[in-house]
Amino acid sequence: MDRLAIVVPCYNEEEVLKIASEALRGVLSDLVGKGKIGPDSFVLFVNDGSRDRTWELIEEEHRNYPEQVFGVKLAGNVGHQFALTAGLITAMDMSDVTVSIDADLQDDIAVIEEMIDKFHAGCDIVYGVRRERKTDTFFKRTTAQGFYKVMELMGVKTVYNHADFRLMSKRAVEQFSQYKETNLFLRGMMPLIGYQTDMVYYDRKERVAGESKYPLKKMLALAFNGISSFSVKPISLILGVGMAIILASVIAAVYAFISYFTGHVVPGWTSLILSIWFLGGLQLLAIGLVGQYIGKIYIEVKHRPRYNIEKVLK
Ligand code: UDP
Ligand code: MG
Repeated sequence: MDRLAIVVPCYNEEEVLKIASEALRGVLSDLVGKGKIGPDSFVLFVNDGSRDRTWELIEEEHRNYPEQVFGVKLAGNVGHQFALTAGLITAMDMSDVTVSIDADLQDDIAVIEEMIDKFHAGCDIVYGVRRERKTDTFFKRTTAQGFYKVMELMGVKTVYNHADFRLMSKRAVEQFSQYKETNLFLRGMMPLIGYQTDMVYYDRKERVAGESKYPLKKMLALAFNGISSFSVKPISLILGVGMAIILASVIAAVYAFISYFTGHVVPGWTSLILSIWFLGGLQLLAIGLVGQYIGKIYIEVKHRPRYNIEKVLK
């Protein structure tokens, strides 16, 4: 029977921890009862350097339910993406399949069963995708959707409306652990893993208690990280603009010469205007070109796996 680990990153979640623990243990015993997962399945809380009583509560839960509740205490606050990674990699050696979910229970725990079913049907990654964003503010909804659009334009593969509520098989987590990059944007990395994937749909709810640990500043940082870690297109953009301006300078040259010969110009204007356009374009072109190399260096230093073998017939 497959051992499931539910991985939950927690930062200052004292208000929701007990509720989350109870709800998730409920999911476990339900699935164990239905014979879908092994009785040794567990919830793994990752304390991301909380400054409140979160860790004490995790310890207490572990004392009360030593078989079902485990905990990892990070030495300091490293942010959601790192905390989740720490949890997944810790769980990797102890389980056959993981499900990651936020502590605030905004994601629908009822679809975990559907995820497990898809896992049994052969999927290695199952994305939780929200159907609607009714509970989000207008601001959060539009910025989030704009973000997905920009990502698409930049050529980054992400799953639309998927946060980090996701099932991963052991081998998917193992492959993920081969990505050694420090600028983590998990949602962009998972599609790189390949393997068979599927989605389950749910409605995102309000937080059960407490408030968001993702203020605008963290959201913007995550968005920028998502783009800059996966795309070198902005650099190509500079190169493109440089070329366009050089082209424009040719047109400007024609215009300037016509003005010069028809005699409507102040002395010195022609050479000045041509230099400005041409040199401006040349500079952008040069920066863009240097950028292309930096982009390559960037891709090299990330040292991502070059391929991922799914099956070998022999
Ligand atoms: N979180 C974390 N470290 C942080 C910030 C958040 O581990 O530095 C966790 C948080 O405890 C929660 C999840 O990440 O389980 C998502 O955070 P939150 O619900 O506040 O984000 P939102 O749903 O508002 O985007
Ligand atoms: Mg939340």
